[in-house]
Amino acid sequence: MVQQTIQIFGRIKPTGKPSAVFSVDNEDPTGASLDFLLPRDLSDGFVNNKRESYKFRFKKVFDQHAKQEDIFENIARPVADSVLAGFNGAIFAYGQTGSGKTFTITGGAERYADRGIIPRTLSYLFERFSQDSSTVYTMHISYLEIYNELGYDLLDPRHEASRLEDLPKVLIMEDADQNIHLRNLSLQQAANEEEALNLLFLGDTNRMIAETPLNQASTRSHCIFTVHLCRREPGSATLQRSKLHLVDLAGSDRVSKTGLNGVLLTEAKYINLSLHFLEQVILALSERSRSHIPYRNSMLTSVLRDSLGGNCMTTMIATLAVDKRNLDESISTCRFAQRVALIKNEAILNEELDPVLLIAHLKEEILTLKKQLATMMGEQKDEQLTADEMLKLEELIEAFLNDPDPDGTLSLGPAMRKVQHSFSYFKRKILEKQTERHQCSQQPPAATRREDVYFPHMSPVDVNSLKEMLQQRDNEISILVKMLKKEKKRADDAVVQLSRITDCQKLSSQSLPNYSTVPGFGDGMADTLSLNRGGQASSESLTGEENMELGEDVSTLSKLTGQVASMCPLSQQLKSTPPQSRDGNVKGHQEDQRVKVYTFQESHEGNMNQLSLNHGGQVLLYMKKGSQLSAGKQEAFEIFIKDHEEQQIIEDHKQLIKKRSAEARTLSEQLNQVRNTIAELRKQLQMRRRQSAAQSVEVNHPPGEKFDPVEEDLCEQIRREKIVYKSAIGRLKALSTEIEHLQLLLERVKVKIQKDFQKWWTQEASSLQGWEPGATAGFHTRPSSSGTPGLWTLDSTAPPHRRPASGC
Ligand code: ADP
Ligand code: MG
Repeated sequence: MVQQTIQIFGRIKPTGKPSAVFSVDNEDPTGASLDFLLPRDLSDGFVNNKRESYKFRFKKVFDQHAKQEDIFENIARPVADSVLAGFNGAIFAYGQTGSGKTFTITGGAERYADRGIIPRTLSYLFERFSQDSSTVYTMHISYLEIYNELGYDLLDPRHEASRLEDLPKVLIMEDADQNIHLRNLSLQQAANEEEALNLLFLGDTNRMIAETPLNQASTRSHCIFTVHLCRREPGSATLQRSKLHLVDLAGSDRVSKTGLNGVLLTEAKYINLSLHFLEQVILALSERSRSHIPYRNSMLTSVLRDSLGGNCMTTMIATLAVDKRNLDESISTCRFAQRVALIKNEAILNEELDPVLLIAHLKEEILTLKKQLATMMGEQKDEQLTADEMLKLEELIEAFLNDPDPDGTLSLGPAMRKVQHSFSYFKRKILEKQTERHQCSQQPPAATRREDVYFPHMSPVDVNSLKEMLQQRDNEISILVKMLKKEKKRADDAVVQLSRITDCQKLSSQSLPNYSTVPGFGDGMADTLSLNRGGQASSESLTGEENMELGEDVSTLSKLTGQVASMCPLSQQLKSTPPQSRDGNVKGHQEDQRVKVYTFQESHEGNMNQLSLNHGGQVLLYMKKGSQLSAGKQEAFEIFIKDHEEQQIIEDHKQLIKKRSAEARTLSEQLNQVRNTIAELRKQLQMRRRQSAAQSVEVNHPPGEKFDPVEEDLCEQIRREKIVYKSAIGRLKALSTEIEHLQLLLERVKVKIQKDFQKWWTQEASSLQGWEPGATAGFHTRPSSSGTPGLWTLDSTAPPHRRPASGC
């Protein structure tokens, strides 16, 4: 058991203007401190007691320049390590809206380097799995959203979210031991990093699609991404299960400041209510005398029950926006963090026994015990041993007798019959020996056997087995010599043949023949000869293990190359896919390639690109099938996206994907070349060794005794090429992950644009219905931020001077 208080960290969001009202001190070895120094007039504004300075203690405070990588290394990696060791872990981000909770937990959409704790942790876990081949790991993922006290499954493969209510509702159940179970929350298996990442993006996309201007789920809901790990040694009955909750809490903004109206106020109350209950739980936990902890008051506290004051290693990140107008919120976030820091958790190793394996082990044990008991009690089986049993037993006894180890034992089990049979076997053997000795003593001394003279202390059985061994070795040697002679002949023939060819082609060069091209050299019988120089060269040559290793790398390479290849069509598609008609024919669009990517597809309910899971748990990206957009709407959409603020991100991602794909292609070509070079060098090495072996036979010299500089040089070259290969394959793996991530980000931005368009379109359509020529409300072109005209927008005061294109 590990007893530990909840670790708290602070993270300050970068601000445009530097703010002098706070200072960070990370130098103190006992922990960091964050000080707010408020001018008196400012403190009047938001604190009643007119304090001017506030000091808060954290384990560490990350200032505005902290990178996502630092956050992962310092905060998430230690938690991930304890989850790998079988403990539960939780990281949750707390702070006001816009302070960087989602950025910290999930990451930003703009750059690969901005990926947050979840993708980095997934990557780290799979890397650790691959390094530990002696353990079997399985990972499942769940993604829960809690909004207005209701839980929604963001990963359910059977539902496509177009509204939050469409997602399956998750219910909390409590068993007799007060353990919490979540009904309807799907657990999806992730066999590799790619699948796990797809699940994260699927959940995020579902969350984004389900969000409406009214519910603003992204700021008002809590999201809990949970990694469920199972770890077991093959064959062992014990397994370790651990969970890692990565929690993006709703904004902690206070209602009084939000100025919300009607419906929104109710929702804001709910959010604050659930955070209020969270605070109550934390308060109760920090007071040692409290016996009742009000976990059951809200869904959030019920779900996080283990993470707060339970069996878990928990970490909280307080996200802070330190510009002047957010200072009061930041101070209240820090206060909350100080209370959280008082909570003590007791994490225990979650080991359990696999019931199936346990039952099998117990059954086996019972059987053995029963047999032992029967022997002890003198009971025995009535049936005689069968001929087969006797034969097996005699083989066992022979093996026992021939075992040179004086401590070797003969294990017969508890059967008395076997013990009796063994004794009669021994008796027979002793009698045979006595007869043999008697016969020997009657032979004249001249006829004394040679082996008795040389090995008088050896028994005839030992001498016989030595003789047999000798005979075997003789046979092996003659076979080897025959093979070597044959090889040598083949090598000589090949050299002659090659020189003939060389002569024919009138080659002036007298360089060594390229043996790899010589017919008859390559695979075949000669390959079965292992002629390493007495083990000395084995480190330089490609051993079986190395061959396997290279083989694995080759399969990784082909997988990665396949991935990159499959990515390329997507990046090309992103660049220039013309809209397809429903029957699959390419439309004759030849205009701006940029806009053709977003062929907007409409369906009855949704109109969104969706990420979905197939039955095998694999995540696939697919476009929802639906009717084509009308020409007018398509045109409006094309204009809409040109002016969309996310357009630049799309362009940047596309460029980067293109660049990385090109880099990956070059790298895989390079890898292929290195592989070919290694194969070529290996052929030359084999050839060289065959030649030296053949020469050794000729001069009657044991193979491998003479140092061969050519062979050494070949080994050295192979070694160097392998280093190049390994580093290139590592880079290719990293590139593949990056491309995958960028594509998912791109998909998400696309979905967002389509969603924005649909929202805008619906607004326009409904206002158009009320629009009459001459009325004051209507469409006009909104001057965009970039100054480009063309985005239709509603302005109730402006006179209509442009109407949407036909078909809208
Ligand atoms: P929250 O989830 O707390 O409401 P977000 O994570 O969505 O806030 O952050 C709001 C905005 O600030 C986003 O555009 C995000 O990219 C940006 N942001 C937040 N934290 C950082 C940071 N540390 N570095 C750069 N940008 C950040
Ligand atoms: Mg957020």
